[in-house]
Amino acid sequence: MRFPSLGTKTKRSVTIEDVIEQMSERYSVDDQDLVQRAHLFSVRAHHGQLRKSGEPYVVHPLAVAMILAEQRLDATSIAVGLLHDVLEDTQADSQRVQEEFGEEVLSLVEGVTQISKISFTTREQEQAENFRKLLLAMVEDIRVLFVKLADRFHNMRTLAHLSPDAQLHNAHETMEIYAPLAQRLGMGRLQVQLEDLALEYSEPDAYRELVKQVESQPRVRDAFIARVRSRIEEELSSQKIEARVEHRVKGYASLHKKLSASVRELDQIYDVVAFRIITDNVKNCYASLGLVHGLWRPVPGRFKDFI
Ligand code: MN
Repeated sequence: MRFPSLGTKTKRSVTIEDVIEQMSERYSVDDQDLVQRAHLFSVRAHHGQLRKSGEPYVVHPLAVAMILAEQRLDATSIAVGLLHDVLEDTQADSQRVQEEFGEEVLSLVEGVTQISKISFTTREQEQAENFRKLLLAMVEDIRVLFVKLADRFHNMRTLAHLSPDAQLHNAHETMEIYAPLAQRLGMGRLQVQLEDLALEYSEPDAYRELVKQVESQPRVRDAFIARVRSRIEEELSSQKIEARVEHRVKGYASLHKKLSASVRELDQIYDVVAFRIITDNVKNCYASLGLVHGLWRPVPGRFKDFI
């Protein structure tokens, strides 16, 4: 597995019990109560509505709430995730949302609704202008953007149910507006997943070919990654360096960009898999670097100091 995809712990649709379970450890009872109430409101408001997939509509706000809970956003954001489509798509009005949940939740839901009404076209100038509008919306409360990104992420994961035109439009918009936004907000994992989904729909042939190529590479296999990681961990512990080792597999979209920019082969891309060692001081960073260079010889001319 490349990395666990957000909001996809279960194959079946997310339920409110899943969301509450996800929240159980680090959220208060009041927080969980707020989310339960938001869910009930959303169930009633979306009653009888279906997604393009044929599922009950409420599956969507629940998936969005789950993504937000996994990202450990606050309970208000999770509640807003559950309520984010009620103003746009249902009979529920602002007044009722305010009565039930207060001014803060209402203004966040309104913020998400506002962004959802903007359609980013593919003509460059308009894009820039819309992007500015989006950034302006961000000024009021950044949580609006977190909810919007979670919304977009679930919509991209269920894009197969839309028309080819809508698929292309959403894929372009995601690549040009939402993935860069996720990066800017420090959500690197979400950025990669948004870009990969966008590539899958905008250039399906290139995407499939790349997946095939990457999967044939021994270095992306779990067993290989685990072996490298445990070598590093053993060495760190024998040198008594307290550190955490992480890894990431480069996203398909990012590989695709690299491969199209220069006529290189996949074998010539050195950072398909990358490891990261996190320690608590600079001295340990350099000690870890020395230790890695002791395990594997640096490639001449390819060394970069990322400390
Ligand atoms: Mn939505």
